[in-house]
Amino acid sequence: MNRRKFFQLILSNIAAGIFINRELLAHSDKSKKTQNFDHNNKDALIIVDVQNDFCPGGSLAVKDGDKIISNINDIQKYFDLIMLTQDWHPIDHSSFSSNNPGKELFSLKDMPYGKQVIWPPHCVIGTYGAEFHETLNTDSAKMIIRKGFRKNIDSYSGFFENDRETHTGLAGVLKNLNIKRVFIAGLALDFCVHYTAVDSAKLGFETFVIKEATLPVDLENSVEKTFNSFKKYKINYGSISEFI
Ligand SMILES: [Zn+2]
Repeated sequence: MNRRKFFQLILSNIAAGIFINRELLAHSDKSKKTQNFDHNNKDALIIVDVQNDFCPGGSLAVKDGDKIISNINDIQKYFDLIMLTQDWHPIDHSSFSSNNPGKELFSLKDMPYGKQVIWPPHCVIGTYGAEFHETLNTDSAKMIIRKGFRKNIDSYSGFFENDRETHTGLAGVLKNLNIKRVFIAGLALDFCVHYTAVDSAKLGFETFVIKEATLPVDLENSVEKTFNSFKKYKINYGSISEFI
């Protein structure tokens, strides 16, 4: 073999090698994508109320609420459909202590739809407190569901206002997209995450609350109540690695 033929042979082998590697890579990419697509297609991640007022420094802060945000960002990679909920109250909201003079913070008052906790003013429309925490990755979210913007109804669940009848629209979106499994993260475990999870289960979605991506505000026996509800409605509570 002369030098020229020898180099031609080397070059064609290199080219063949590149081609084969590309083919293999393309094939493995494709199978990976197909697998993820099938799995992601029926799952949704709902990130509940990761807003400044629910984080340290906010008016209704969950202790260490900001420390779970990196976990919330990490788990987003498992989902194609990511939705955010955002507590969004007018300044004259009927649940605020500022609009209930003489009532103690965190006491209960009667509303036409049942008992309502008196909260410090929080997540007021258009304020810094209502904004998502700056470390939350919101780029992949497909939709933001705002709740609690009616003066006379509070809203904990991402699905219904507290009258349990007024829809936020979230259920319709998930049903239309043929979602089967709903994963929930965010703040606070014992209120908005709790009620969102219960409604999700009642609506027929297989429901998961991600342990490392939520924390409670912990008022009286609210955490105990939450875990009792999870048991009652067969809501899975655990690490993402147990479910995906
Ligand atoms: Zn609120």
